[in-house]
Amino acid sequence: MSKLTRLTVLGSTGSIGKSTLDVVARHPGKYRIIALSAQQQDELLFEQCRRFQPRYAVLLDEAAAERLVKRVAAAGLDVEVLCGAAALERVATLPEVDAVMAAIVGAAGMPPTLAAAQAGKKILLANKETLVLAGHLFMEAVHHSGSALLPIDSEHNAIFQALPNGYAGDMQRSGISKILLTASGGPFRKTPLEQLQHVTPEQACAHPNWSMGRKISVDSASMMNKGLEVIEAHWLFNASADDIQVVVHPQSVIHSMVQYVDGSVLAQLGNPDMRTPIAYALAYPERIEAGVAPLDLFQVATLDFSAPDFTRFPCLSLAYQALRAGGTTPALLNAANEVAVAAFLDRRIAFLDIPRLIETVLGKVARAEVHLLQDVLDADAAARAAAQEWISR
Ligand code: NAD
Ligand code: MG
Repeated sequence: MSKLTRLTVLGSTGSIGKSTLDVVARHPGKYRIIALSAQQQDELLFEQCRRFQPRYAVLLDEAAAERLVKRVAAAGLDVEVLCGAAALERVATLPEVDAVMAAIVGAAGMPPTLAAAQAGKKILLANKETLVLAGHLFMEAVHHSGSALLPIDSEHNAIFQALPNGYAGDMQRSGISKILLTASGGPFRKTPLEQLQHVTPEQACAHPNWSMGRKISVDSASMMNKGLEVIEAHWLFNASADDIQVVVHPQSVIHSMVQYVDGSVLAQLGNPDMRTPIAYALAYPERIEAGVAPLDLFQVATLDFSAPDFTRFPCLSLAYQALRAGGTTPALLNAANEVAVAAFLDRRIAFLDIPRLIETVLGKVARAEVHLLQDVLDADAAARAAAQEWISR
């Protein structure tokens, strides 16, 4: 029988975090939760503490942490409540932790994920922003410490499964000609262009196939999510922008593909449910049950493919441009996008302002080389300031 895996879940109250705990709960005795974390959802975090009995629970918000301390004491739970960003790094690097699920949303997820890599933990990477912001530093930390890195993003998990065993980052040597990154096209794939200006956060968050957090749902609607995933694939698989082809596939049944020089294309298929990549990464190289219904191909019946529409989705072009520019440009893109999406969700800007804002910020804040983490943090802060200025202009 395989040994117990001791796990920290960063962002346990989110969409990926909850799916992770759902898979863990299906395998009693196989996983032990050491730490859980959330931004401010103390009620849900308390329920998770009761169920999974972690040693630590981290909240970013101080008032929420105080409430959790009281609840935990009243329930007689043996859970230490910690507060603040430094505590996230602490629970990601504890000696008694084997693996870290990195499922915080946004740039805030990067520091603890990087710390986990430096500490040599097995990393289950959902937080794509870590790679967009600090891909070079993160991959260097992974190689240096000998961490195992398993992608959770469904596309990258599919690519990982379709790559040759032990793929060492050399596409040519492995006979790979292209990475085919599939995209559903989101809820606005066919919306008349003149209506896009007026779409609401509710419409943007109503994804046709996947149930996800609000931020990534808006990114899927603008296709910035696919843009960030192109950058993510670049770092994970050592693929250039030209090596990565986005393929629109509205059924979201094929989760991505690898094309080989002999003409073979290997794909991974399944129902759109994040518990599949989560279970794959948790148990790798074994396979465990994930609670996902088997794919019914007769029900699916048809698979469609088309080229992405860069006019409809300027965010996708901006991301390709940022990857080609390199240095801090992807960090600037990500920060501007995070501010833009938050403003859109707050109804302060329109949907089509998202790419406008990002383009303005990229034109305004100078690109720099990335040598140290500080270079990334400075770029992130400068882009956020420029974006806020544009919004309140
Ligand atoms: P979510 O919004 O549902 O959950 C985010 C989690 O992070 C919550 O637990 C929240 O409390 C915590 N959090 C938010 N801001 C924080 C901060 N500043 N500091 C500390 N904790 C914070 O997000 P999600 O949809 O689960 O996505 C999580 C990550 O996984 C994102 O990077 C996303 O791109 C990636 N991802 C998600 C999906 C999906 O299906 N949801 C698929 C692929 C990749
Ligand atoms: Mg994805």
